[in-house]
Amino acid sequence: MKKLITNSSKSKKFYVTTAIDYVNAEPHVGHMYQKVIADVLYRWNKLILGEKNSYFLTGTDEHGKKIYESAKKAGKNPKEFADEMSKKFKEAWNLMDIHANRFIRTTDEDHKKIVQEMIKKCKENGDIYLGEYEGLYCTDCEAYYTEKDLVKGNCPIHKKPVEKIKEKSYFFRLSKYQKFLLELYKKHPEFILPEERRNEIINRVKEGLKDLSISRTSFDWGIPFPGDKEHIVYVWFDALFNYYTGSGKNHEHWPAIVHLLGKDNAWFHAVYWPAFLKSAGLKLPKTIFVHGFLTFNGQKISKSLGNVISPKYLSEKYSSDVVRYFICRNFPFAEGNDGDFSENVLIERNNSELADKFGNLVARVAGLIEKKKNTPGKIKKDVIDQKLFSKLNLKKINEYYNNYEIDKALNEIFAFIDECNLYLQKNEPWRLEGKKLNKVLYNSSDAIRIISLLLSPIIPRNTEKINQIFGFENKSIKKAKPGLYLPKKEIKKEILFNKIEIEKKNIPKIQTQNNNQKNTQKMKTENKEKKKTPEKFEGIAPLSEIGYKDFAKIDLRIAKILNVKEHPNADKLLVLDIDLGFEKKTLVAGLKQYYKPEELIGKKIVVLANLEPKELRGILSRGMILVATTPDKSIVSVLFPEKDIPVGSKLS
Ligand code: ZN
Repeated sequence: MKKLITNSSKSKKFYVTTAIDYVNAEPHVGHMYQKVIADVLYRWNKLILGEKNSYFLTGTDEHGKKIYESAKKAGKNPKEFADEMSKKFKEAWNLMDIHANRFIRTTDEDHKKIVQEMIKKCKENGDIYLGEYEGLYCTDCEAYYTEKDLVKGNCPIHKKPVEKIKEKSYFFRLSKYQKFLLELYKKHPEFILPEERRNEIINRVKEGLKDLSISRTSFDWGIPFPGDKEHIVYVWFDALFNYYTGSGKNHEHWPAIVHLLGKDNAWFHAVYWPAFLKSAGLKLPKTIFVHGFLTFNGQKISKSLGNVISPKYLSEKYSSDVVRYFICRNFPFAEGNDGDFSENVLIERNNSELADKFGNLVARVAGLIEKKKNTPGKIKKDVIDQKLFSKLNLKKINEYYNNYEIDKALNEIFAFIDECNLYLQKNEPWRLEGKKLNKVLYNSSDAIRIISLLLSPIIPRNTEKINQIFGFENKSIKKAKPGLYLPKKEIKKEILFNKIEIEKKNIPKIQTQNNNQKNTQKMKTENKEKKKTPEKFEGIAPLSEIGYKDFAKIDLRIAKILNVKEHPNADKLLVLDIDLGFEKKTLVAGLKQYYKPEELIGKKIVVLANLEPKELRGILSRGMILVATTPDKSIVSVLFPEKDIPVGSKLS
């Protein structure tokens, strides 16, 4: 993806919105995906720009025919129905630690006023007229379609029949804005992201725009149309203006820096919205960001999956931090592709990343300080280990956050966590005393402080806990510099992330999508293995020095080689970038005599994935590639799988 992205660091203010959800269904993991990302961006920008200059709006969309009919079905009046459902969304976001500055409801009084004002402004601008509309309407989309749009006579999104509706209607002169929109997209390519979505929209707008019906008469659940009692305002005209209504006191945060939305909402936001704003004389948002959809354990999200897809259930089962981390780490949000929310992959990431890497680092350092009863003394600059902190690429992390590449920011932060674990291994502070011990403990605590700050938008609860354990002050990015830790008197070790066992029922169904999450379950649970193994493995056991239990710890995976370079400081080594599906890594391997880079790039290989990182001539190698060799190493053969098997597949 090209870097044509809003860089909020250039702007002194940040304002993020989410789609406001229709209250005709309960909140689920699909809604949650976008809200978590919005909350993380908001929190990150708070660190950068300060509390006052970062703003976040979410809420619910409560008017329109769909809500009207859902309420009728439930035997309630629409407002009563919307009150109940809206509350569920609010509660769900609270459970996930998603805290917007305002939770807007389109039934809010100030919003109704704004919408009516905007209709008047567009009218004054000559953009609204009364006409008659006859069209094919999908109630679920709250939108008209033409014959051409339909798929086998059905709505292209809902695959349900559309209704033929004929009514008197006010129209918005959308046709007038074709040229304006095409110029907007050209002049501000960052207006629609990612690029693929932009191209789709441009092509469709080029085909021409029809005027848009913006009022309804066939039902009355909506905002009264100013100057005509027979009509209510079309729900999309109503809904889009929520971003303006909710933009703070006197609209101080308008225009938005980014609207996050799912791909089904792209057209409304990329075409109608800027046209409405232009007509009403308001500034345009900087970016509308279109993201992909999620499946859940390989299945399409729908009511039939039951409560397992609810934020309430997931936050209770795994904790909000673990779910937030997984969402941020697992899906390359900025690429806009679909992804699968696999509980097994979540567990695996919790165990191998949050628990084994980060949790372990924190517990080791806190435990050592506690055990040695040696709270680090006052800081002196010469005590700072510049070499360790040179491995932290803050500039890159900031860039990734600002480019919505939160997965990559995490990758970078975790590479530093690996460095910190390596730092402890190398320096062996458990063997040290006095000044030397003090230095290692100070630097590793200070590193944890900075890591905690950088992770705080994603895992706010646990980073707050870390702040308490160590006595960190972590409210601004300005503190992301080494040497600012002022040690507290007493530190007590705490376990931050507990490992989670994979449940049998979680074992995923075979997925047909070619996505990144094709991991099978990781059977790390020792107790279970004890019961299972005897009969099968007794025959081999006497010859072997490792048991099945030990073998089960070895995580062998299929990986794809993305790139190969020669090691800059060694003549026998190659540096390989590999993709494990759930993670990208760099490995260093002694293959230069045996393979040319082009013989390896694009190939699938077998990798020992959970090997502790090792520095090889200045490059951190995070895994090992499997090869077969003759004793004299005259022949070295990389093992390539015979069949085309997905990356991330586990060897057994
Ligand atoms: Zn539809």
